[in-house]
Amino acid sequence: MAEVLNQPPPLINYNLFDADLPLREALEREGGSWAQDMVRELGRLAGTEEAIAWGFQANSNPPQLRTHDRFGNRIDEVEFHPAWHRLMEVAIGHGLHALPWREPRPGAHAARAAGFYVWSQVEGGHGCPVSMTYAAIPALRKQPDLAAEWEPLITTLDYDPGLRPHATKRGVLFGMAMTEKQGGSDVRANTTRATPIGAGGPGGEFQLTGHKWFCSAPMCDAFLVLAQAPGGLSCFLLPRVLPDGSRNGFHIQRLKDKLGNRSNASAEIELDGAFAWMVGDEGKGVRTIIEMVNHTRLDCIVGSASLMRQAVAQATHHAAHRSAFGRLLTEQPLMVNVLADLSVESEATTVLMMRLASALDRSADSAEAHFRRLALAVSKYWTCKRAIALVAEALECHGGNGYVEESIMPRLYREAPLNAIWEGSGNVNALDVLRAMDREPESVTAFVEEVEEASGSDARLDRSIVELKKQLSNGAGAEAGARRLVERMAVLLEGSLLVRHGDPAVADAFCASRLGGDWGHSFGTLPPGLPLASIVQRHRPSS
Ligand SMILES: Cc1cc2nc3c(=O)[nH]c(=O)nc-3n(C[C@H](O)[C@H](O)[C@H](O)COP(=O)(O)OP(=O)(O)OC[C@H]3O[C@@H](n4cnc5c(N)ncnc54)[C@H](O)[C@@H]3O)c2cc1C
Repeated sequence: MAEVLNQPPPLINYNLFDADLPLREALEREGGSWAQDMVRELGRLAGTEEAIAWGFQANSNPPQLRTHDRFGNRIDEVEFHPAWHRLMEVAIGHGLHALPWREPRPGAHAARAAGFYVWSQVEGGHGCPVSMTYAAIPALRKQPDLAAEWEPLITTLDYDPGLRPHATKRGVLFGMAMTEKQGGSDVRANTTRATPIGAGGPGGEFQLTGHKWFCSAPMCDAFLVLAQAPGGLSCFLLPRVLPDGSRNGFHIQRLKDKLGNRSNASAEIELDGAFAWMVGDEGKGVRTIIEMVNHTRLDCIVGSASLMRQAVAQATHHAAHRSAFGRLLTEQPLMVNVLADLSVESEATTVLMMRLASALDRSADSAEAHFRRLALAVSKYWTCKRAIALVAEALECHGGNGYVEESIMPRLYREAPLNAIWEGSGNVNALDVLRAMDREPESVTAFVEEVEEASGSDARLDRSIVELKKQLSNGAGAEAGARRLVERMAVLLEGSLLVRHGDPAVADAFCASRLGGDWGHSFGTLPPGLPLASIVQRHRPSS
């Protein structure tokens, strides 16, 4: 057998938290350092061979739908590979589904975001039910009696899979069902009907009849569902199992055969007179569920940051061990430019995601709440888009090995577009920015004030702020220009955060390229004169 030469060792047995300086700095800055041990433990686990194997197994053995039992009774169950359950156990056991609700102390959302970002690097798919469960609570609280009953079950650290009445379980998980065949972005097109069983109204009992075209993680214990009540589109809590132990009228028709996110099940469901309780005011379903959407939007940003970080870690590791033309790839100036450019983008996203999580921690402050309203939509649009391009480039850094399933890169690549689709696809988010600017002008003021915190530190940033303010003074502008405006806002926010909090060399490279215009159209086009090797070194896990 020929000796295997010039193949990098696998990236294992390192701590993903310890190796991530931008994250560690941000966790400290955003007030979550009390949770450092928890995040570090997740980082350690995420670097183990065992956990990495769970990620591969859960994706190569996708969930299977069992519609009926052997006697022909409908059971509507989905079977997952044991590796999925191990991933879930770790996530729930570390409170990634509930930390801020269990421990509502300063920095709790930031700490949870850091943990979710680190642990999702092992496997993205199982983050879906974890994220939806975290996000369900603020919406559920709109109906205090239901929240009082369900919240104690949501916030335990017990992962207790299987369909049983919620009162008998050690822990429960939540999903959401909004999208129907005729439209997902425009939920007003929902046709699922909700008929009151008794008096109806908030907290009242209803029967739901209709379908949902995308309903992920269908083995969750309960779902927040939108349906048309007599008083208009409303939000409902729909349990999978009724309190008497019988199955609710929630029938899984099919599981989607998806591009990526293959460890997770995404179902098409029929609701056949399914029992549900109304959550919040009748006719105000969007206003109720929007709280859930806002929190899952944050997780789309965290998920994108996580994908980017894993991709950069893999690419910098590979290049540090692989030689071509007699030199390591990390000694080849053009590859260093590519890796540094990817690192800059990744750091910008990490810093941004932690700032947004911290805005949730501080949402009692009205300026923070206004900032979050606009910045979340701006950042969701931009970071999800950037993740797609970044992962593709990081894959290419591996050469042919990056295209092969035994590396994690194809999985990251398939996962990358998803965050951009759910919780408002790109255009919908961009239009939401215009809507926020129009309806909540205080959000524009708060956004500009945040960006201006860095004023006077970098001439390129200062110039960009002046230009943005000029543009904003003319109002939100036309729909057709929304993407252009949102891009500019996002990049400026990242620049401002990096100048204040990032590594100075990274901030300089960001401002030169993204704000100063000294940049090309793909990664690896940073201008000369920057300390690119040290930027790469900052981002390379030392394994
Ligand atoms: C893997 C996966 C899992 C999912 N899980 C769930 C789930 O658990 N629960 C759930 O409720 N949904 C779920 N979804 C659905 C997802 O939220 C929707 O697909 C998404 O909201 C888009 O809706 P749509 O597919 O109907 O596309 P459409 O609404 O038809 O949009 C198509 C395109 O048009 C654009 N567009 C829409 N309106 C405008 C406009 N006014 N101007 C310009 N462009 C516009 C959109 O940005 C998009 O690019 C899931 C989707 C996927 C892929």
